[in-house]
Amino acid sequence: MFDTLSERLSGTLANLRGKGRLSDADIDATAREIRIALLEADVALPVVRGFVARTKERAKGAEVSGALNPAQQVVKIVNEELVGVLGGETRRLRFSKEPPTVIMLAGLQGSGKTTLAGKLALWLKGQGHTPLLVACDLQRPNAVTQLQIVGERAGATTFAPEPGNGVGDPVDVARRGIAFAREKQHDIVVVDTAGRLGVDEELMRQASDIREAVRPDEVLFVVDAMIGQDAVATAEAFRDGVGFTGVVLTKLDGDARGGAALSVREVTGQPILFASDGEKLENFDVFHPDRMASRILG
Ligand code: GDP
Repeated sequence: MFDTLSERLSGTLANLRGKGRLSDADIDATAREIRIALLEADVALPVVRGFVARTKERAKGAEVSGALNPAQQVVKIVNEELVGVLGGETRRLRFSKEPPTVIMLAGLQGSGKTTLAGKLALWLKGQGHTPLLVACDLQRPNAVTQLQIVGERAGATTFAPEPGNGVGDPVDVARRGIAFAREKQHDIVVVDTAGRLGVDEELMRQASDIREAVRPDEVLFVVDAMIGQDAVATAEAFRDGVGFTGVVLTKLDGDARGGAALSVREVTGQPILFASDGEKLENFDVFHPDRMASRILG
C-alpha cells in the first residue's frame, strides 16, 4: 500500500546522504519534499502541516552528535514523527475484569467488519480465549449467514436471531447475545453491526443504541484504507455519531495511496489497534506504529 510514499520519502532522505553538514536551506528543501510526498499519499492536510513543522524544527535544532551523521539524524527524526502520528506505543486490546469482554465493530458497509469478526475470533482463540460472535447486522441480506461462515472457519460460535422471526431488533440481539455468552462462558463477545454505503443518521443511531445497551469495553471503528480521503471524514462522523475507542485498518494489501488511513489516529485521537491486509482470516495482526513507520521508511 505505501509503496509510492515509501519510495518518495526514502528518495528524499537519500539525497541528504554524504552531506557533512545540513544548512537551513537543505532542511527546508527536504521538508518541502516530505510535504509533497505525504500530500500525494493522501495524508490529511492538518496532519501533514504538523508533521512537517515538527520535523523541520527538530532537524534545525539537532545537535551534531558523534554517533549519527546529519542525514541519519533527519531519518531518525522523520521515523520518530511517523511513529508519533501512528500512535506511538502499541495499544493493546482492553479486557474487562469481569468477563465477558465486549468488543463492538462499527464502520461502513464493505469496510470489512464481518471478515474482521472472523479474524478477531481466530486471533483471540490463538490467545486462549473463547470468543462468541454476535450477529447484529440485520440489514444486509446474508450478513448473518456470512458471519456464521467466518465464525465456523475461525472455529467460533455465532449467536444469531432465530430465522423466521422477521428482521429483528439489533439491540435486543446484542443483549441476548451477551446473556448467552455469560451462560455458555464465552469470555469475549464480538458484536458485528450494520453498515451503510455512506454515513447516515439511522446507521449512527442504531450503532449508538447498541453501544448504550451493551456498554462495550471496546468500540472498534473499521476503516477500509482503500477509500482514500473519505476515510478521515467517515472517521470523524463515527467519532461524533457513535464514538469509538480504537481503529482497525483494513485492506492494507491494496494499492491505493493509504495516507488518509494513516491520518485517522491523529484526526480522531483514537489509537489504531489492528491491521488487516488480505481476505484470509490469517491476514491480520496487532498494529505496531514503530513497525509500520519502519515499513514506510523502507
Ligand atoms: P462488511 O460489509 O463491513 O461486513 O465487510 P465484509 O467483511 O463483508 O468485507 C467486504 C469485502 O472486503 C469482502 O469481499 C472481504 O473479503 C473483503 N476484505 C475484508 N478485509 C480485507 C482485507 O484486509 N483485504 C482485502 N483485500 N479484502 C478484504
